[in-house]
Amino acid sequence: MRPGSGSRTGAAYPVRVTTTSAPLTWPELPAKQQPTWPDTDALAQVSATLGTLPPLVFAGECDVLRQRMADAANGEAFVLMGGDCAETFAAATADNIRDRIKTLLQMSVVLTYGASMPVVKVGRIAGQFAKPRSKDTETRGETTLPAYRGDLVNDFDFSPVARIPDPQRLLRAYHTSSATLNLVRAFTQGGFADLRFVHEWNRGFIANSANARYEKLAKDIDKAMRFMDACGVDFEELRRVDVWAGHEALVLDYERPLTRIDSRTGLPYATSGHFVWVGERTRDIGGAHLDFVSRVTNPVGIKVGPTADPAEVIEMARLVDPDGLPGRLTLITRMGAQQVREALPPIVRAVTDAGIDVTWVCDPMHGNTFESSSGFKTRRFDDIVEEVRGFFEVHQALGTIPGGLHVELTGNDVTECLGGAMHVEDRDLELRYETLCDPRLNHQQSLELAFVVAEMLTQR
Ligand code: PEP
Ligand code: MN
Repeated sequence: MRPGSGSRTGAAYPVRVTTTSAPLTWPELPAKQQPTWPDTDALAQVSATLGTLPPLVFAGECDVLRQRMADAANGEAFVLMGGDCAETFAAATADNIRDRIKTLLQMSVVLTYGASMPVVKVGRIAGQFAKPRSKDTETRGETTLPAYRGDLVNDFDFSPVARIPDPQRLLRAYHTSSATLNLVRAFTQGGFADLRFVHEWNRGFIANSANARYEKLAKDIDKAMRFMDACGVDFEELRRVDVWAGHEALVLDYERPLTRIDSRTGLPYATSGHFVWVGERTRDIGGAHLDFVSRVTNPVGIKVGPTADPAEVIEMARLVDPDGLPGRLTLITRMGAQQVREALPPIVRAVTDAGIDVTWVCDPMHGNTFESSSGFKTRRFDDIVEEVRGFFEVHQALGTIPGGLHVELTGNDVTECLGGAMHVEDRDLELRYETLCDPRLNHQQSLELAFVVAEMLTQR
């Protein structure tokens, strides 16, 4: 590992305070999945306020993450993205945030230890409040109401008032993200993420086989740490980690006012999160979402599903990253376990042949969602593993780099995805099905997945 290439914090990097509101004018382009705000005056006021608030993340941090993503593209690091499908205001509690961070830290220790590979940790956190929906409305019985579009837009409660898009929610999302980030920064920079606490991260979770396996690994790490301590080694690097914030840049009335010009370079940055991506449903060429991420300087992602045409993927890449900046573009492929081996190779081959350099990340969640016989939206743990396996195989065969994993997870003991060592079954889903959108891996399933992926990484 090159010095400084790890995802643990090395030398301090400059915090450039980007306080100027971007004097950017945004072109009028078609934008899918946007709320229809009934009160446009209120929206204008909120936009103006958002434009004056401090940035949630800083340009210098985004640049460091871009370098980390470039390391992953080169096979010198591995990206772990994870968190809720849809964050909610109510669930932004200290315990929930801590447990999600602990889960990410544990997974990342498993991956780092198993594969001797620095792990770049990106939460789906502090901004993942908006959801694209397949239908604009939801019908229950005789009643049809506007669909829930995430806490950024309206309320999940099935009542006419709750479902009205309310621009005040943009401000609430900003403040909730700010409080979340504050806690994430405290946990990761303030000693909680110190590798000497590798056992602590396992406390509080219910005992299970993945926990037990983790405990064994933590003991090995402990021993190594004590050895280094005895030798007088005191790596500052082991005390802190970087956990970056990422989310889908979906609602442009939130993202645009939070764009700022970096005072040092004069370049625009999305300051709603370090990493923003465009979803499978909004990645139209000529659409407002790709245009948005093409204008900001952050590392950005595009989700790519099984129906994507390789030529279209090349066009998107050229549009978003015309200069081929290392680490700038991540393609998050989400093909489905059954399709990954057929659908992924033509895309990877076309991108490689075009000389385009991207970070390849596997989202094994969104191509594997189905409705269980008990009526819950769910995913099978085995399908998730199978898609990751296919992703690794395809890249291995083509000589390209499988650079990371993007999953929906929670630190809580939910029953939303089927299978895993605990054998969550269809009839168990109702026990603790808490997500307001897509099913997440619970703590144990997340750790189990990390162990499986660590093995794949050692064979990479
Ligand atoms: C998501 O990440 O929650 C999502 C909606 O994914 P996709 O855009 O890949 O469907
Ligand atoms: Mn989702």
